[in-house]
Amino acid sequence: SLPTIYVITPTYARLVQKAELTRLSHTFLHVPHLHWIVVEDSPSPTQLVTNFLAMSGLTYTHLHMLTPKDRKLQEGDPHWLKPRGAEQRNEGLRWLREKAAADGGKGLAFDNAVIYFADDDNTYSLQLFEEMRYTKKASVWPVGLVGAMKFERPVVENGKVVRFHTGWRPNRPFPIDMAGFAVSLNLVLANPEACFDGNAEMGFLESSFLQNLVTMEELEPKADMCTKVLVWHTRTEKPKMKREEALIKQGLGSDPNVEV
Ligand code: UDP
Ligand code: MN
Repeated sequence: SLPTIYVITPTYARLVQKAELTRLSHTFLHVPHLHWIVVEDSPSPTQLVTNFLAMSGLTYTHLHMLTPKDRKLQEGDPHWLKPRGAEQRNEGLRWLREKAAADGGKGLAFDNAVIYFADDDNTYSLQLFEEMRYTKKASVWPVGLVGAMKFERPVVENGKVVRFHTGWRPNRPFPIDMAGFAVSLNLVLANPEACFDGNAEMGFLESSFLQNLVTMEELEPKADMCTKVLVWHTRTEKPKMKREEALIKQGLGSDPNVEV
């Protein structure tokens, strides 16, 4: 049967959260053998996400892991100051390792399963999941609209990744966005120490994970030798609440019992 794709998604409460999760779930509903691991950045599971997942029609696991306050981006901080979602992705990895250990190396581990880190605001084509499904160690592909460029991508020569097309510090160990790679579950199980470094310098979060797992030479280029963009690092605009705030002052704010 098809290898399972475990998709790990960090998510946090904000006005656009349900809209993001709705868009994402409607993509994933079209992907066979996908198991969604949703990790909330919260001290406990929220009602919104709990109810949302129950109604989603997807196979899922609902986890939570609060980002420690000193690692969290504060209001007014530039968005690149601290990595986002590191603790949540690590919690997803911890759950997978625990599950695999409990299975005694049966189920999960020999499933040829794949792990993909899908942020809740990006845009994913269905083809992307079929590209990553037969990952041996680590697959890579281009990511659109990222790094202040049209796209970033691994550069492939004679079927091998030889360098990276990126506008910034191309000599980082793996100058690849989170959306630009998938790894095999077996590789992660074979390297129990591999995780994301929540204190990584800007742009080094992906490297902190991948450098404990693979070398550049081992990367498996997908999406027609990294010539097709199948995922976009879209970012959602923060909704303006100016009129809402004005109405609240008059006691006429939108009904707080309506979930948005
Ligand atoms: N995220 C989170 N807690 C936060 C900020 C972000 O769990 O305090 C999640 C977010 O929902 C997303 C991922 O981490 O799935 C990456 O965040 P974001 O999209 O804001 O990062 P960017 O695209 O700007 O790198
Ligand atoms: Mn994002």
